[in-house]
Amino acid sequence: MGRRKLVVGNWKMNGLRAQLPEVEAIGALAAERPVVEVGLCLPATLIMAASQVKGGAFVGAQDCHMKDNGAHTGCLSAAMLAEAGASWTIVGHSERRQDQGETDADIAAKALAARAAGLKVILCVGESLDVRDAGGAEDVVSAQLLASLPEGAAADWLAIAYEPIWAIGTGRIPTMEAVEAMHKALRAALASRIGAGEANAMRILYGGSMNGENAAELMAIEDVDGGLVGGASLTATKFAPVIAAA
Ligand code: PGA
Repeated sequence: MGRRKLVVGNWKMNGLRAQLPEVEAIGALAAERPVVEVGLCLPATLIMAASQVKGGAFVGAQDCHMKDNGAHTGCLSAAMLAEAGASWTIVGHSERRQDQGETDADIAAKALAARAAGLKVILCVGESLDVRDAGGAEDVVSAQLLASLPEGAAADWLAIAYEPIWAIGTGRIPTMEAVEAMHKALRAALASRIGAGEANAMRILYGGSMNGENAAELMAIEDVDGGLVGGASLTATKFAPVIAAA
């Protein structure tokens, strides 16, 4: 069986209750296109309200703590997010790797904590512009993936998002050949760790300036199984052509 396309909006630190109609409209788009799995990873403050209007989309979080509970002021556990209505969470986004200093080991631990709470996980990896320009980005990102891959990684609860850092929010994307080579390398890296069968079943998303203009071409690449979409997921009008392209 082929891999079902997965298209996920990452709203980052955007969205107040005034944007709930957008969630509802995106949920309606998702319900019209059940062949694609569609979700929105929202600010935690919106998860509960969004769950009431999500239609055919799932609601997810953007991060979770690696511990179940305790003295971690300002943090949220995976169980808290699940109870609020999240069914997925992102871990290891480059903005958190950079801004919060998250390490590969932290990210693997967060993925395991999410799984234990019943959340599915999108694990992000990607190279800086320096690495891209120096050459050998496939090796660097493959190593990053294997270092942040949680124990027991399996396609029924984990997806990977390849997000070149220099493409996030910049309007720049790699060439289609570069995306193809990276996704192929990441699948091979997965196969080396979890076996070819599981690696072939696991979804590998592309993220970084994906939009209605480029989504069809990106998602036509053999090993690109969907997208993690920031700016172009913030309104139903912008997100609709990305969902339609999957
Ligand atoms: P972008 O963000 O689509 O706005 O580039 C993608 C992401 O960071 O997940």
